Amino acid sequence: MNWDEYAEWAGRIGTWGADYHKGLRHRPVRAQTRPGEIAAQLPESPPEGPAPMEDIFADIDRIVMPGITHWQHPRFFAYFPSNAAPPSMLADQVTSVLAAQCMLWQTSPAATEVETKVLDWLRQGLGLPEGFAGVIQDSASSATLAAVLTMRERALNFEGNRKGLAQGPVLRIYCSAEVHSSIDKAIWVAGIGQDNLVKVPITPGDPLRGIDTGALRAAIEADKAAGFVPAGVIACVGGTGTGATDNVAAVMDVAEAFDLFTHVDAAWAGSAMLCPEFRTLWDGVDRAHSVVMNPHKWLGTNFDLSAHFLRTPDDLVRTLAIQPEYLKTHGADGIINYSEWSIPLGRRFRALKLWFLIRGYGMEGLRTRLRNHVTWVQGLCEQLRAEPGVEIVTEPILALFTFRYGTDDAFNLDLVNAINDDGRIYLTQTKVDGVTAIRFTGCQFDATREDVETAFGVITEIAAAIGEGAQ
Ligand SMILES: *Cc1c(COP(=O)(O)O)cnc(C)c1O
Repeated sequence: MNWDEYAEWAGRIGTWGADYHKGLRHRPVRAQTRPGEIAAQLPESPPEGPAPMEDIFADIDRIVMPGITHWQHPRFFAYFPSNAAPPSMLADQVTSVLAAQCMLWQTSPAATEVETKVLDWLRQGLGLPEGFAGVIQDSASSATLAAVLTMRERALNFEGNRKGLAQGPVLRIYCSAEVHSSIDKAIWVAGIGQDNLVKVPITPGDPLRGIDTGALRAAIEADKAAGFVPAGVIACVGGTGTGATDNVAAVMDVAEAFDLFTHVDAAWAGSAMLCPEFRTLWDGVDRAHSVVMNPHKWLGTNFDLSAHFLRTPDDLVRTLAIQPEYLKTHGADGIINYSEWSIPLGRRFRALKLWFLIRGYGMEGLRTRLRNHVTWVQGLCEQLRAEPGVEIVTEPILALFTFRYGTDDAFNLDLVNAINDDGRIYLTQTKVDGVTAIRFTGCQFDATREDVETAFGVITEIAAAIGEGAQ
């Protein structure tokens, strides 16, 4: 392909993309294909010769699109969103065109310096104190792994990387029972072992489903008495199932009493902290060592861009920096090599998409969207609460609540499946204290009040239809 053809196709794909987004409301949200249906349309072996772009691109509409679940659909109410605002998509195109590998300052000074600045904009926007330093990780999972490795090294006097873990003490890390599975995985990968992730129960009756900090303190004391070495605590702000949120200040009180490294996982809910009125949800976060939030979820930078803030990066860098001779930047003082702050060496120029997003909407534009989502979802919750047979299982935390019809788990699972087969909206289920509940989260970037309100009609209509069928 020559560059003139490239330019023509870039334009065509831009037009195709705009048409796709404008027509999203007419598509079923969840892909409606069966397993294997897409793969069966691809040849078994790669082509030996080149194909014209015309043919390659035609297969997007023909083969790929039927197998796409439309995450940017305004009525995507499942999981958490993966919002992608158009300015950030354009920035990502620029990143792809430059295709710079931004592992060190000198491998693209602009990438490092824009990242530093834009993450500081975000820090200010979130109300984190001055001094917190940000780095872009590819995902919250990676940020949490980096934090867990830092807990490990700090507890082992920074000797674990060299000596391995076999001779060392048994380390313990603490969190609530409501944390995301990425915490468990980080514990596995860090060599700490699932058995040493102590899942402390939540406070009975707490509407926020936060960790019982009395039980946390007791667990740490019991572990110390038993000869274990406590290494860190992970607090949860806006857990995935129900939005469970720990009392961060109370967690910090305990962690500080034992000098433990603390990490706050606010992957989804963190975006809402752009709005000062929501910040009570993470009061005490300024005392954490490490905080992760995902602009690639609610905020609108297309996947992937996870913002990881460190109260001081020293321990993290001491854990992750590795400097063979060929990676050293000689003679340049006072520069940041962000690959020393993360697990992968290579890094894309991700900061561009946050830069474009923030400039494209302004902080106030982003706050308006976040506030609307919270208001609309809480309105829908009230509508459903008034509906006969509906129980609100967990109250709204920001823009997430869970509900169920009656007491039959199987009926609620059938209802979710029927709703998703219908295609007008997309929901997922969760378990709350062992019981099946339906999650509703309305944080899609382009959602309107009408889109969220549509959900009420769809849910009640399909519940009535399958309720009758069941009788
Ligand atoms: C989505 C989510 C994660 C994982 O985020 P990735 O960026 O996909 O790794 C972690 N924690 C919580 C609370 C989440 O909602």
